[in-house]
Amino acid sequence: MPNRSSATPSVVAPKFCGMAATIASAISFPKFLASACKGEPLQRYLHCRRILREANRSDCPTVSGCYNPSITNPMKNLLSLSLACSLFLSPKSISADAGPMANSKKVSAVEFLYADVSDANSILGTIDSGLLSTYRGKDRAAWEQFYREKRAKLAKKLERLPGSGLSGGDTRAIAAMRKQMKAFTGGGALFSPVAKCQDAARKDIAYPDLKSALVACFVEIGNSLTFEGSKINRVSALDLLHETSDPSRRKSVFFAFVPLWQAINGNNEPDSPYRRMIAGASAQAAKNGSEIDNAARDIGIDAAEVERWLVQILDAWRESSGDTMVEPWDFRFEAGQADRLLGTHIPRESLQPINQRYYRDLGADLEQMGTLYDLSPRPEKAALAYTEFVTHGRMVNGAWRPTVARVTAPYERGGLFVLNELVHENGHVVNITAIRNRPAFVDWPSDLFAEAFADVPSWSTYEPLWQRRYIGHEVPEQLSLRALYSVVVLDVAWSLFELRMFRAPLTDPNALWTEITSRYLHIVPHPELSWWAVRVQLADIPGYMVNYGLGAILTAEMRQHISEALGAFDTGNPRWYGWVSEHLLRYGSERDTRTLMQDFLGRPVSPQALLEHIHRLKPESLHATGDHSTDSAGLLLFCRPTVPQDSPSFHHKDHSLHGMDIFCGISRYRNDVRGFPLFKRTDLT
Ligand SMILES: [Zn+2]
Repeated sequence: MPNRSSATPSVVAPKFCGMAATIASAISFPKFLASACKGEPLQRYLHCRRILREANRSDCPTVSGCYNPSITNPMKNLLSLSLACSLFLSPKSISADAGPMANSKKVSAVEFLYADVSDANSILGTIDSGLLSTYRGKDRAAWEQFYREKRAKLAKKLERLPGSGLSGGDTRAIAAMRKQMKAFTGGGALFSPVAKCQDAARKDIAYPDLKSALVACFVEIGNSLTFEGSKINRVSALDLLHETSDPSRRKSVFFAFVPLWQAINGNNEPDSPYRRMIAGASAQAAKNGSEIDNAARDIGIDAAEVERWLVQILDAWRESSGDTMVEPWDFRFEAGQADRLLGTHIPRESLQPINQRYYRDLGADLEQMGTLYDLSPRPEKAALAYTEFVTHGRMVNGAWRPTVARVTAPYERGGLFVLNELVHENGHVVNITAIRNRPAFVDWPSDLFAEAFADVPSWSTYEPLWQRRYIGHEVPEQLSLRALYSVVVLDVAWSLFELRMFRAPLTDPNALWTEITSRYLHIVPHPELSWWAVRVQLADIPGYMVNYGLGAILTAEMRQHISEALGAFDTGNPRWYGWVSEHLLRYGSERDTRTLMQDFLGRPVSPQALLEHIHRLKPESLHATGDHSTDSAGLLLFCRPTVPQDSPSFHHKDHSLHGMDIFCGISRYRNDVRGFPLFKRTDLT
């Protein structure tokens, strides 16, 4: 298992956040994983597993071709030119206490060599992504040679640096460089898959091989589910669960997963593949700690507290989402109305202009930063979204040469879900572009922090005010927030599931999943189905899901604290970028997440902000008059305020929203009294 110590920087790896829901690719994502990671050294595996994590977070099927060096594109040279022009922009005036320089001259010399190697590594990755064929006038072969020579030199010099007598900053920088250098891949090429799903049934197989076999099941079976007589992949099936309005068709899509569930968890017998695997994971965690322990340490709490927080979040959803029980095949559809309603107003060609305008309004000019975008699908291209360095910011002749980032995505169509993802990716861009530190630390912060921060701007896309300004249309707050938080609480449910499986690996996973989802998500019990087994992380990186649940807590904390300090930013705030750079981002990988958040908030992290957000979904009392009944349980929605908060009750008609009569009610949460337009959910489907 990878070490995610909060005291040391994370390895160099892109932030992958693919959510493109309609990717038509014959090559599966897990195939890439299995092929690129199997039998590889740890550092490459770390790199691969982040691809896995993000791809599956977003239910994206393929990343194959991500590192295919053979791709050519006439745009590449043009991009090289524009990139070269963007490299010497004057930096924003952001200071860093640590400063960008080393204390010792010897260390300084090694660190600049490290910066060259680090850049060559990320440039090779950029070329191999298919975005460019040359960079700064050098082709791939020239960069490869440069990389090999400099890397060999760096390895020797790093070895020879003294082990004592250095400042604390130099000592940490050396440790960071040594760790990062091991993670450099020098571009990438793919290998053939080795693991086989059928091996998961073998009782004599060792824990690591069992995990690999289960991941292979996601490849072999997850990519050829049978639906209505043809084959679809896991992602398309999940997509259909969001979009199919015919309930019986939704149910058949859901049951297309049966072969995958059976491969992962057999018939839920005590020695099913998953149950043997989680026993192995739990035994290993008892020796080395688990992903859950690592994430807990990142925010300064213990595993017991993690569990309490997860339960609190699920409880908030339980209390706020009505009492109506839904079938598991209806949950995604019920929650996804905002995406369906706004989809037609967000054509693909509008994605990038909206994204750039929002960041300009936040004080971050992505074009001026020289960010490279590669957003169209190609057959050989990674079929998920991710963000990575092209070059790392550093001091050159006394001036700061900024970081250049690239965003890669395979966008075939627009929609709110995709737009949210693009804004998230650019959250990663502004994160790494804001780093001002010595070369050893110009790198990603922890996974937990990086993903949580990228959601700080991207959650705004689910705010009606943001939608009105940037899309010209809005959906009611209740619908938007439901779409956003339904994704969060599903991740939290998986987090709790894993946490409890780790603690008691003999637990019946179907019974546990049923207990969590029926109690907190109002999902009809189906303990006969292993329908939890649709996330490949559960097999590949047991315990990893907790990063998502806790990440949402950090996101809510940051959004609230920034709003309190700067004012609202859902419709832009020109001070935003400079301020978050100064207070959160400039350190890069130097500061651990726990210290960073503690200093930022002036207190330890707490789940309170997220809990309050989820409670915004809750209509507690209702006073509406007019033609519509107000008591049809589960069918009423309460929308954004349209009247002053002190109004005790009112009646209002608004024909602008979908051409329907809309009535207003009052929702109370604690002392928050708000007016809401009200209409029947059935009117919108
Ligand atoms: Zn991300």
